Amino acid sequence: MKKTVKIAIDGPSGAGKSTIAKRLAAELGFVYLDTGAMYRAIALKADGAGLKPAESPELDVLLRNTEISIKYADGAMRIFLDGADVSEKIREHYVSKLASDFSALKSVRLTLVDMQRKLAGKHDTILDGRDIGTFVLPDADFKFYLTASAEVRAMRRCLELKARGQECEYDRILDDIVRRDLQDMNREFAPLKKAPDALEIDSTEMTVDEVVAGMLSVIRGNN
Ligand code: C5P
Repeated sequence: MKKTVKIAIDGPSGAGKSTIAKRLAAELGFVYLDTGAMYRAIALKADGAGLKPAESPELDVLLRNTEISIKYADGAMRIFLDGADVSEKIREHYVSKLASDFSALKSVRLTLVDMQRKLAGKHDTILDGRDIGTFVLPDADFKFYLTASAEVRAMRRCLELKARGQECEYDRILDDIVRRDLQDMNREFAPLKKAPDALEIDSTEMTVDEVVAGMLSVIRGNN
């Protein structure tokens, strides 16, 4: 089987990973996989089934009986949970915290990591997440760690919400971002951290175009 090219983009919440990953995928003709969406989908189902974020036989049964599938339409990734399109539902605010809670569980991670590795084995893929370069694909061809100050990340999220006509409470968003980062960085199994061989890009004072151009020049070998 032909070896596929794999690009890992990790980093804290709201650093712009998915925006950048989508742009790179379009530019390079790669498939884009938002691994956070997979954690969000599982958390949505487990919470809906009344499960608490803790290892349990019930959670194991749920994980064995859950089908997550990914489809692409006009360059956008859609995620299906047991056949239903949950792409919008998983973006609701309360799901972010739930995803972080359930993603700390080893059983949840191993189930999703297995799917992520299989998908990345089939196509040239750009994956964005928290543990892609450290755990999912330690042999990825390119690894980036994208950060920005928490204040700038919160401000960008606010602007996104406003552009969609939604309310933005800056302080609450900042607080959520900081808490979620801490939880993701301090979990025991596959925490968020920079892989030693990842290139760190701090986008606090960079535009999306600048970040994309910087990554493309590394990938194409013009750096
Ligand atoms: O990227 P996004 O904010 O959608 O991810 C939601 C949550 O899923 C994160 O806060 C994190 O806890 C979890 N996650 C993870 N590993 C990944 C991707 C996401 O633990 N590879």
